[in-house]
Amino acid sequence: MRDVGRTGTRTVAVIGAGLVGLACARALQRTGHVVTLIDPEDPGSGASAGNAGLIAGSAVVPEASRETLLALPRLLLSNDSPVSLRITHFPRLVPFLWHFAKACRTSRFDELSRAMAQLSLNGFDRWMALLDDLPEARALFRRDGCLYLYLSEDEHLNAKKDNDVRRARGMPLTELSDADVRALLPDIGVTTAGGILAQSAGHVVEPRALGDLLFRHFVADGGRFQQRKIARLERVDHRVPAVHTTDGDQIAANVFVLAAGAYSRPLAAQVEARVPLATQRGYHVMVRDPDVSVPMPLLVPGAGLAVTPMRNGLRFAGLVEFDRLDAAPNPARTRQIKQCAVHLFPRLAVDNAETWMGCRPSLPDGVPIIDRAPGAANVFLAFGHGQMGLTQAAITGEAIAAIVEGDAPPVDLSPYRVTRFGRSENLHHAA
Ligand SMILES: Cc1cc2nc3c(=O)[nH]c(=O)nc-3n(C[C@H](O)[C@H](O)[C@H](O)COP(=O)(O)OP(=O)(O)OC[C@H]3O[C@@H](n4cnc5c(N)ncnc54)[C@H](O)[C@@H]3O)c2cc1C
Repeated sequence: MRDVGRTGTRTVAVIGAGLVGLACARALQRTGHVVTLIDPEDPGSGASAGNAGLIAGSAVVPEASRETLLALPRLLLSNDSPVSLRITHFPRLVPFLWHFAKACRTSRFDELSRAMAQLSLNGFDRWMALLDDLPEARALFRRDGCLYLYLSEDEHLNAKKDNDVRRARGMPLTELSDADVRALLPDIGVTTAGGILAQSAGHVVEPRALGDLLFRHFVADGGRFQQRKIARLERVDHRVPAVHTTDGDQIAANVFVLAAGAYSRPLAAQVEARVPLATQRGYHVMVRDPDVSVPMPLLVPGAGLAVTPMRNGLRFAGLVEFDRLDAAPNPARTRQIKQCAVHLFPRLAVDNAETWMGCRPSLPDGVPIIDRAPGAANVFLAFGHGQMGLTQAAITGEAIAAIVEGDAPPVDLSPYRVTRFGRSENLHHAA
């Protein structure tokens, strides 16, 4: 570790200790700053704990597209769809949907795909670089590829365009027949329409352990932790000298990084960053000691699920549910995942499987905000990673450390500017 940053040692407070906040904190600490992490919960216990674990290099296909927009009414109305919406939540979603519709313009597709690729294609390597002094954490990563499973000919045919985009971005993909799929997955109980193997994809065998290890080493190297919730950012002359906790205390620092995931919107608004951040809630079902062989992660696009072999079991994770951040988990979603699990692998016993729900921090165009706050020169924003926060956390940390230092960031950050959503004052109803 360097002793001091290029601009001298500064005190930095990172609000939110999910994987994005932890990666920012670690990168800033390695740059030589004195860093405090602030979170009311245990570090790494939010969306970052229960995700599918994929370091999804193949995430270069924007969700916002003409095809998704046309399919959305059907997806939202059908019972067994991977996408659902609580109808009473609709008014709060209007700003998100408005910007989503704008992002679906054909002219934006290539631009958004490039913006995703910049952060995703090197996701694995950027993690390895951030963890170069933590072999224990590196040992949680695998690079076994990822198998896209198509359950019907239509699905496989419809995926052709997405797979052409992946190939155009330089990803090696191998077409597999149903017989090839069966050779890899001897316990599969359905006839597939074949699959695609994305060789360069990786995964983490226990995302929660990654958060724990990052946090433990952050503290061992002098990092501080305040188990508090931030209620307010105080602003004086275009700067934030301190943030206020919900229990009436203040935490002062030279620099602040806002990385509170799906909960960032009200805090961001206090530094003139009004953003249509919503949450797409997702679920997982974790089967301990599964009696089936799954040698690599699977993606089942038709079901909206990933199936990931983890250190402590087989995890079925995914679905998109538009609802309030604080609404109780919906048991119908975990039933839906269990049904799909048994459909794919009839031998699986899912009755006693663990279930989990978490809130993705979602922006309408599917790329995060990595930027300086418009209303405070010493506040930096790192949130909105949606479906890709595990993949993109390390490079986000690297980028934030660079812009705090005044150094050139590892990639062009213009696609992640907060101002891309305009300065609309009408966004305060977003979820
Ligand atoms: C089912 C599912 C599957 C997924 N699969 C993948 C995958 O395979 N690959 C991938 O790359 N991504 C995946 N994701 C997405 C990924 O998990 C998220 O993008 C990522 O975890 C977001 O990290 P974060 O640090 O921004 O948010 P979080 O992990 O949610 O952390 C935010 C933190 O901020 C804290 N906080 C909130 N409010 C305050 C406040 N006022 N003051 C202080 N702290 C506060 C919270 O307590 C929390 O700890 C998946 C997500 C889900 C739900």
